[in-house]
Amino acid sequence: TTHLVWLRNDLRINDNMALAAACRDSQANVIALFIATPQQWQQHHMAPKQAAFIQQNLLLLQASLAERGIPLHYHQCDDFAASIDYLVEFCQQQQVDALFYNYQYEINERERDVQAEKRLDAQSVICQGFDDSLLLPPGSVQTGSNTMFKVFTPFSRAFVRRLHQSLPECYHAPKARDGAPISIKKKIPAFDYPCEAFDETVFPAGEEAALKQLRHFAKQAVQDYPDQRDLPAIDGTSRLSAYLAIGVLSPRQCLHRVLKEHPDALNEGKAFTWLNELIWREFYRHLMVAFPALCKHQPFVDWTRNVDWQQNEAHLKAWQQGKTGYPIVDAAMRQLNTLGWMHNRLRMITASFLVKDLLIDWREGERYFMQQLIDGDLAANNGGWQWAASTGTDAAPYFRIFNPTTQGERFDKQGAFIREWLPELKEVPDSDIHQPQVWAQKNNKKLDYPAPIVEHKDARKKTLDAFERARSAA
Ligand code: FAD
Repeated sequence: TTHLVWLRNDLRINDNMALAAACRDSQANVIALFIATPQQWQQHHMAPKQAAFIQQNLLLLQASLAERGIPLHYHQCDDFAASIDYLVEFCQQQQVDALFYNYQYEINERERDVQAEKRLDAQSVICQGFDDSLLLPPGSVQTGSNTMFKVFTPFSRAFVRRLHQSLPECYHAPKARDGAPISIKKKIPAFDYPCEAFDETVFPAGEEAALKQLRHFAKQAVQDYPDQRDLPAIDGTSRLSAYLAIGVLSPRQCLHRVLKEHPDALNEGKAFTWLNELIWREFYRHLMVAFPALCKHQPFVDWTRNVDWQQNEAHLKAWQQGKTGYPIVDAAMRQLNTLGWMHNRLRMITASFLVKDLLIDWREGERYFMQQLIDGDLAANNGGWQWAASTGTDAAPYFRIFNPTTQGERFDKQGAFIREWLPELKEVPDSDIHQPQVWAQKNNKKLDYPAPIVEHKDARKKTLDAFERARSAA
């Protein structure tokens, strides 16, 4: 019998449920397939850095599958519709008896899989899908009245209770099959999609690199995380998001590694703070399944549709390029544009700035982030943006508006992070780094740095008015 593993957002051999299931029968001929869909990626605004990251991880995956005797086939077509046609044809060609794949939860991906299963069913190919990219399947953590939680804290509590009852297990990488290793006949070619080099010292490709980073983080840094996670000048977070987003690493591997080092982590031990972030990841994915309109960028809170967003190309550009005149915002945007990654505190600050200081539609920011992020993930990105814009479930209330200057003072006191990304401010003393133009004026200096494009106090008032008008119109 021939078993096909259709790889998508699960680019690993360790703890891969579909791959493990396909390999369970040691007699089966196991093959794998990856289908690139550049047009679809374009529609989903996939960042060129993420495309390059996928490409590199695929090459390494191809090698580790070959060592185990599993060939990785590759095909490129335009979009999901075309990928179904190809999959069906491929199954016929290769006389596939059973297809194994891990679920993706976004709306287009789910529709594609339903269609693919229908077509393959007609050809008597048995299809098996797995809830692999989550600790617990969507719909398995619900309120007493069997609905999805709309507030995070009770979701997290119920989630932890479920984990206490039973932990999801990790699956070993498959053993080498008969005839292994096999030679690689054709290396995965470059995608016909804009790819952009990423910093390989920060995001080295491959499972081994990801696991090394996880092991290192889980030893000590996870304990310091509650005190350090909000300070962007410190390397205090795991930086594992890029791997989790494309499935080079699984959340189960993260959970088990942390529990190995800190067995009390689920009992509110220090390491729990980090596990709780993984639960935020689950929350947004579970929400997306319960409320698929989120995938279509609809706001969760209906009245926020009425907010009269400003169209201001110049402001949008200044935000994108890190030229707003607010140093913490600008340094953060330059980090994003350079690395394809931004610290979580800064994602909150920059998102709040776009929406609440510039009154620009959060979907503009959501799209721009997606186009830049190496860890771009629809559920987490949409969740983060709707949180910041006060349009989402369990979001910041609309009247809570970050002051970008005091946020900077609070989380980057001496401006160490700002200096790293805004060399044009190197002359400005620590005490003035958050308001460099005030310092420049006082000292008669000329800075190659813009004055604030909006006055926060006025902008705040304008935004409050816009939200209040929208609410009363509903
Ligand atoms: P750590 O702090 O080490 O957290 C560990 C892991 O938990 C992360 O790798 C991530 O998988 C998950 N996680 C952490 N915080 C969140 C969160 N708030 N929501 C969901 N999952 C979380 N995360 C993405 O993975 N992709 C995105 O596209 C994305 N867009 C965001 C947009 C905005 C506006 C905001 C406010 C947040 C966004 N996040 C996104 C969440 C978060 O900022 C990143 O996951 C985090 O900064 C990644 O760095 P890390 O791996 O060092 O995180």
